[in-house]
Amino acid sequence: LDQLFEEAIYIINKLEKYNYQAYFVGGCVRDYLLKRPISDIDIATSAPPEKVQLIFSNVIPIGLKHGTVIVRHLHKSYEVTTFRIDGKYSDNRRPDNVEFIQSIDEDLKRRDFTINALAMDSSGNIIDLFDGTLDLRKKVIRTVGKGSERFHEDPLRIIRALRFSSQLGFAIDTDTLKDMMVIGPEITKLAVERIRVEVTKFFGGSYIDNGINYLKKTEVHLYLPVMINYPYIIDKLPTRFDPLNGFSEIVTFFHYLEPSICMEEWFVSWKCSNQEKRDVKQLVKSIDYYKKYGLDKWLVYCLRAPYFDAFVRLLNLLYPSELLTKKEIILIHDSLVIHTREELEVDGHDLIALFPNKGKGPWIQEALNKIEKDVILNHVPNKNNELKDWIKWNPPEIS
Ligand code: ATP
Ligand code: MG
Repeated sequence: LDQLFEEAIYIINKLEKYNYQAYFVGGCVRDYLLKRPISDIDIATSAPPEKVQLIFSNVIPIGLKHGTVIVRHLHKSYEVTTFRIDGKYSDNRRPDNVEFIQSIDEDLKRRDFTINALAMDSSGNIIDLFDGTLDLRKKVIRTVGKGSERFHEDPLRIIRALRFSSQLGFAIDTDTLKDMMVIGPEITKLAVERIRVEVTKFFGGSYIDNGINYLKKTEVHLYLPVMINYPYIIDKLPTRFDPLNGFSEIVTFFHYLEPSICMEEWFVSWKCSNQEKRDVKQLVKSIDYYKKYGLDKWLVYCLRAPYFDAFVRLLNLLYPSELLTKKEIILIHDSLVIHTREELEVDGHDLIALFPNKGKGPWIQEALNKIEKDVILNHVPNKNNELKDWIKWNPPEIS
């Protein structure tokens, strides 16, 4: 077994010592069998959540009502969830109510797709009630039970099917696909917070081209925020897509795909955080500058290192012929004479001393901006005396 599982076996063994059943379940078993990197390890157990809390010393109850606690072990977190059957899903992230049960079989039955309905015991034996391992081999996404019922129960599963097609490069079973199209309109009932998680993973999938094909086929975008109002947007997607990392990149990408849609509409409809709004604005400003002036030192300086990856990904997607690499940007970044405003050898006090009549005011910031750009573009060296001379010959505009 994988190193990750080896450490987690402690938790299974301990639950078993108290005469409870415990298994690895869901995505970690799927990814283990696919030899993909495992994101997190989930454990299902017959122990009720109160007992799990008693058995382990370091426990964080995150969803007692739904039977989920986090067990900390050797500085890692494991979600331990009691076997359960789900009640009705309303707008929330989780079903409204759940019933705890004693057998893993029913717990596996509530799961969305056969490839996600696998369990594994501590010896590596797989429990596979719905031919999930066969579907893994055939590379097929298929619902557990009737798609029409399962999608109606929780329409998020429709978007999850697309998400897995994009992450795994799997085909979607034809019946499942038909049911996705029939139940698609019910997506509009979902809370946008739930949709966002899956849409973000969808656009980040290594097989995003496969995902986009299914998106086009199912027309699920017709039921997603914003896109619902601009259905033609799907036809504008490039034929060769590359994965995007995070929701800000997705919004920025769609802004250039269809600039007539007001940015605020994306922000409001998708409930973007202030940080996401800042990220989108920073990326849009930089891409607009690039379109006007191309890549120069001022652009790289203003962009700042945390945005390099996103900027390169977006430019390559929007202007595939230009072949911009992160290495080029890093080279330019390394060649900059200063990397922050603080490193500039003049400051506001110098300016006030040079122009005592002007007094304090917004002209100081404007003048510093201009000098900063002159230094970055190597029009003048970053030396206090030379900068002062430069400013005297190029005085700030009289305002
Ligand atoms: P990832 O690698 O992205 O975490 P995952 O398969 O683990 O993929 P999660 O969203 O973490 O996906 O869910 C864990 C498991 O819970 C799934 O594998 C599936 O068995 C079950 N599950 C999650 N969401 C649903 C849902 N909406 N309906 C039914 N089962 C679900
Ligand atoms: Mg998971």
